[in-house]
Amino acid sequence: MFIRYNVIMLNFFILFLLFCAFAVLFYLCFNLCLQFFHPAICHTDGDVLYSFDDGPSIYTPQILEILKQHNQKAIFFCIGKNIATHPEIFAEILAHGHQVGNHSFSHSNFFGFKSLKDIIKEIQDTDDIMKKHGAVEVRYFRPPFGVINPTISKALKRTGHSVMGWSVRSFDTVFSEKIVLKRLKNIKKQDIVLLHDSKFETISTIRSHLK
Ligand SMILES: [Zn+2]
Repeated sequence: MFIRYNVIMLNFFILFLLFCAFAVLFYLCFNLCLQFFHPAICHTDGDVLYSFDDGPSIYTPQILEILKQHNQKAIFFCIGKNIATHPEIFAEILAHGHQVGNHSFSHSNFFGFKSLKDIIKEIQDTDDIMKKHGAVEVRYFRPPFGVINPTISKALKRTGHSVMGWSVRSFDTVFSEKIVLKRLKNIKKQDIVLLHDSKFETISTIRSHLK
């Protein structure tokens, strides 16, 4: 009886250790600015940098207009398949003088589980479509969902992109505009701010924040 109790406790302990190991791995993969698997830029040397992920979308032109009104430059991390859908909007981002970055071709939920070959293809296909529509150089990559693992790191060493993360996550895809604006109020010099031009509400958020 006593031995069986000990075996059960040992099994629970092993399960607990496995859970902890998984939790630590999850934390390291989802926090690219910890730079555990790969170096990442998470601050600028100077002013605040606004970054917009997941476009180009039908909302991007309005965001471009607001940025123009405030003479504010930004970086847009574009998804390859969205550039294929909205090549003219991608060209508009470049025409406004903003930087563009690579945010994978598919933005698949399973990006982190893809093979090395497939990840390299995603990155190169996105570079190709960006260059086809006017980008001269694509220096930065931001992984979908900000997830970095050893395979993605290996792929980036082959493609030569630098990873850009963020220091302020606006949570504009999750929270109400009121909460997002409160978060943006605290940004300071050298911050890189994560926003999404794929979301309608971001138009109003960035308008209110910059005014
Ligand atoms: Zn994204």
